Amino acid sequence: MEETVTRIKPKNSGTRPLFDNPILEKLSRTHISVPITIYLVTSAVLGWYAFTYTQMSAGWIGFLFFAGIFVFSLVEYATHRGVFHMDTDTPVKAKIQYTFHGIHHEFPKDKTRLAMPPAAAIFVGAALFGVTFLLLGEASYAFFPGFLVGYSGYLFVHFIVHAYPPPKNLFKKLWVNHAVHHYKSHDKNYGVSSPLWDYVFGTFMK
Ligand SMILES: [Zn+2]
Ligand SMILES: [Zn+2]
Repeated sequence: MEETVTRIKPKNSGTRPLFDNPILEKLSRTHISVPITIYLVTSAVLGWYAFTYTQMSAGWIGFLFFAGIFVFSLVEYATHRGVFHMDTDTPVKAKIQYTFHGIHHEFPKDKTRLAMPPAAAIFVGAALFGVTFLLLGEASYAFFPGFLVGYSGYLFVHFIVHAYPPPKNLFKKLWVNHAVHHYKSHDKNYGVSSPLWDYVFGTFMK
């Protein structure tokens, strides 16, 4: 029963189906450009709505947009740490953990499993926007685009890390950080798009 993600050895290539049903299996994969395009178009539409149909000033819209990016980075950290690397002490938890994230740790180079597939993301995104709207009202038209841009940035960094050798630019540090998470210690460096929250919560590893 002690099967935790830390015990799964990463494989350098290959993949494994998650579902027997071929349609579900196909829906569980995506090319990274598909979700990134969907999120950026959605944030552009919401931002346009904020400027056109609300009374919010440009300064306030800009502030909310950056607040959305900032909050996303914390959600990214908390989800990766608390959900994707949850305890796998029961078979049900182990199955959920493997489906959401363990499979990525086993096949880190499978480029079709680097993002939540759009079929699932549409429901998660709609629910998240609903919650944001209940909490913030019309401010969510500026905040949520920031959140989606933060998420797109995370997806982009995550793709670069797994699809390419270490780049010789500012992404190099992020590349190394995430490689440490995969190949050295699964309970360090939960932040992919930035190491900020790893510094704050003491989970950063060089
Ligand atoms: Zn990864
Ligand atoms: Zn992980």
